[in-house]
Amino acid sequence: MKDVKGFLSSILDSITDHITVIDNTGAIQYVNKSWTAFATRNGCLITENWKNINYIEACDNASDIDGDFGPKVAQGIRSVIDKSHDSFYFEYPCHSPQQNRWFMMRVTPLSFEQDNYFVISHHNITERKLAEEKVRNLARIDGLTNIANRRYFDEFLNAEWRRCLRLELPISLAIIDLDHFKLLNDTYGHQHGDQCLIQIAQLLKQFVNRSSDICARYGGEEFAIVLGNTSLTDAQTLLGSLLEEIAHLDITNPNSPIQSYLTASIGLATIQPNFEEQEKLLIYQADKMLYKAKANGRDRLES
Ligand code: GH3
Ligand code: MG
Ligand code: MG
Repeated sequence: MKDVKGFLSSILDSITDHITVIDNTGAIQYVNKSWTAFATRNGCLITENWKNINYIEACDNASDIDGDFGPKVAQGIRSVIDKSHDSFYFEYPCHSPQQNRWFMMRVTPLSFEQDNYFVISHHNITERKLAEEKVRNLARIDGLTNIANRRYFDEFLNAEWRRCLRLELPISLAIIDLDHFKLLNDTYGHQHGDQCLIQIAQLLKQFVNRSSDICARYGGEEFAIVLGNTSLTDAQTLLGSLLEEIAHLDITNPNSPIQSYLTASIGLATIQPNFEEQEKLLIYQADKMLYKAKANGRDRLES
């Protein structure tokens, strides 16, 4: 082969990873074509004019714009330079206005003619991140009703509780239990019962429109609604209409001693959070109110 150097350089330029090489002071020694192409398209600092740019200093200075990524990356590179780590690995979001993207950065040492260099490569991991997000979302959805499952309900309530604690806002929780659902199953079969649960879930979705609200399947024929920043009075109004709408669905349950259609009992509680991790108190109170609604004859809201 005549031009080995040119051949090796072409290989590096054909790699889709964005690669740069720095010396032990952080001064840039080399960037491949993918790097400059990406940097130019995305308005990054290090483009074709990379000479005299110090990569580590650029990371230090990026701190204001990119949150704490800059210092983290600078620290990681330094840890490979001073040999406290063999390599450094870092995943970060790098979204463009058109698309959500994630990259993985890896720093590895390179020795050449007695000098130490460091190869920094950035690999696009968007496909993997999107797949992970999809799996995460699937793990949060109830398979039958397609609304949030208990696991996501727990996560959401915990986060919303902490938000309301921080902002000194009230938070409301309603637990909705379908009345005599066993009788409906016994009358029409389990499959028909499933369809009714789906219908109820669809209705609940219409009652949660804000990012601070969620409806979830809490258990078999029990559902829950979390309403962040919602007073008891507002929650009472909303859940009063939910009871009416459940009646309007007119799902027949002919053997129910309450009505000839499917009804629900709702336990509602509102708390202004005082402590972290105390959302169980809200569940406990809503549960107590649900018990009261059942004891007082079902088809009602207690708070
Ligand atoms: P109550 O008014 O006291 O709540 O009476 P209930 O019959 O609704 O309550 P109970 O706890 O006695 O029974 C719950 C019923 O809900 C029995 C169970 O088969 C049914 N159920 C739970 N999960 C599902 C489900 O996924 N699909 C169907 N079709 N039924 C379910
Ligand atoms: Mg129940
Ligand atoms: Mg029930």
